[in-house]
Amino acid sequence: MTATIIDGKAFAARLRGRIAEEVARVKAAGVTPGLAVVLVGDDPASAVYVRNKGRQTAEVGMESFEHRLPDDTAEADLLELIARLNTDPKVHGILCQLPLPAHIQTDRVLAAIDVAKDVDGFHVSNVGLLSTGQKALVPCTPLGCLMMLRAQLGSLAGLEAVVIGRSNIVGKPMAQLLLGDSATVTVAHSRTRDLGEVVRRADIVVAAVGRPRMVPGDWIKPGATVIDVGINRAAGEAGATRLVGDCDFESCAAVAGAITPVPGGVGPMTIACLLANTLTACCRAHGLAEPDGLAA
Ligand code: NAD
Repeated sequence: MTATIIDGKAFAARLRGRIAEEVARVKAAGVTPGLAVVLVGDDPASAVYVRNKGRQTAEVGMESFEHRLPDDTAEADLLELIARLNTDPKVHGILCQLPLPAHIQTDRVLAAIDVAKDVDGFHVSNVGLLSTGQKALVPCTPLGCLMMLRAQLGSLAGLEAVVIGRSNIVGKPMAQLLLGDSATVTVAHSRTRDLGEVVRRADIVVAAVGRPRMVPGDWIKPGATVIDVGINRAAGEAGATRLVGDCDFESCAAVAGAITPVPGGVGPMTIACLLANTLTACCRAHGLAEPDGLAA
């Protein structure tokens, strides 16, 4: 069997197109969705993410507000900025780029963001809403994975899903979303015994570990759908490095029914889902109809 390649780049482009149409609808009702992104320090990878987020926000017709603060910003000053953004009517989504410098307590900062503007879905109240099956803002990466799974498989009800990884930003919310769609969910992690046996029973595998090519093809049930969240640098040709996922792409694609590549799979969906969350937050804030299929 050769797997269908799930093209995350094309999927994300279609999603952004849909969001742009919905933004135009919301603007016609007199509201412009706005996303504020806060970057503390000069981590080069974070700076690239923030730039991309700002560009894509503007491209779909939303307002983008960027706040760049120096590395030695006091926690109190960051909290003050967040308090201002919380009450700013032009801002519907607030994202504080992680990681924050070591002298700032991430939990305190995330807790300070208004739950209704928490477009990263990291606030404990959104985590609680998601896990109790209520309307929440959902972390962007697992939301993107869910959208791709629904598009690929239709109903997920009754399917065996194995999520490898239990982080707060990917593994745990992914498991909650799959449960919300009535899959039978197993969360595997670094202490799981006989991981291969666990993964072999899955109709859906979501790998979110951060270990290059750790999932071999002989762990995959024939026909399963494989979502590879991992982004790892591995040695390429002639001393160069290249990006690889947590799954060994070639051997998994030979067995799976469908698989996301790395790069070009889950990655491009994450920012598109951030825009989707901002639009959702804006619609909820103004009592406007929420577009179908953009939230969990
Ligand atoms: P994390 O380090 O917070 O969590 C990794 C998880 O993997 C842990 O729960 C751990 O228990 C589990 N694990 C570690 N070793 C294992 C092993 N040998 N067997 C089974 N499980 C094991 O990482 P994260 O933030 O969840 O990210 C995971 C990967 O996804 C990383 O490669 C990251 O770069 C990538 N990622 C991609 C996106 C995207 O937009 N595509 C977004 C977030 C994270």
